[in-house]
Amino acid sequence: QDRTRSFLKVQDGCDYSCSFCTIPLARGKSRSNSIAEIVKQAHLICESGVKEIVLTGVNIGDFGLQHGERKENFFQLIQALDKVDARFRISSIEPNLLTDEMIEFIASSQHFLPHFHIPLQSGSNKILRLMRRRYLRELHTGRVARIQSLMPHACVGADVIAGFPGETKEDFLETCLYLAESQLSYLHVFSYSERAHTEAAKMPGRVHSAERSERSQRLHALSEKMRRRLYQQQAGKVLNVLFENDFENDFIHGHSENYVRVGLPANSNFINQIIPVRITSFAPHGAMTGLVAND
Ligand code: SF4
Repeated sequence: QDRTRSFLKVQDGCDYSCSFCTIPLARGKSRSNSIAEIVKQAHLICESGVKEIVLTGVNIGDFGLQHGERKENFFQLIQALDKVDARFRISSIEPNLLTDEMIEFIASSQHFLPHFHIPLQSGSNKILRLMRRRYLRELHTGRVARIQSLMPHACVGADVIAGFPGETKEDFLETCLYLAESQLSYLHVFSYSERAHTEAAKMPGRVHSAERSERSQRLHALSEKMRRRLYQQQAGKVLNVLFENDFENDFIHGHSENYVRVGLPANSNFINQIIPVRITSFAPHGAMTGLVAND
């Protein structure tokens, strides 16, 4: 935990069986703390001076199982946390578990930030089936479109795996085209790597490792384009930036509600302050810069 942002684990384990993943084996069944306990922890974090809390878990949307029984759910959790005086981010949520009611709630919340991370893994339905994911790409498209319609300023990221067994050049191209047309803001790219005791490790159609890294480089380049598009769209807007203990050369950096990295001329008084910044232009270190808005 640093002074400005704290991670709060609300759930552990996973009951899904994605064919590439060892987490269910390593971390066991899905289980959660109670909402009452988590709200208590969130209050304690706030009292320590932390302004932003990131909710984490292995499969956070499946929140609410205690000893194998569903007691509560993730929507109830975010409603309860919305009464705590902090900024909240949700680390990552499976597209099939992110519901319309959650998206609508977050759109009207003063505390939950317009930042979503929704794993996609592939833009090819053939590969999604081989991965044993619980959705097809159309569902992902629908989630992103719903978010964008209510929160056009939102930042939406996704995970993508390059070189899954059976992913042909055509399948990969399909993923690239899908992503290029999407409204996503960044990608977390993973080069597929075989994990012992997984179904995927035994699948035919192994992609050569040089090809995997080439594909992942292309996805990284695409991600950078997406990020720049989001950043460019911020010009002229006022963003509320939580500044961190993050100095590079003569700048201090922080992140806005929609996870845009913003830098201002270094001033250590800004650390752990939420400061409105009118965004003007790109700055070094992959950030945007601007002027303090109430100056
Ligand atoms: S990839 Fe995520 S949802 Fe799938 S089994 Fe692993 S932890 Fe569960």
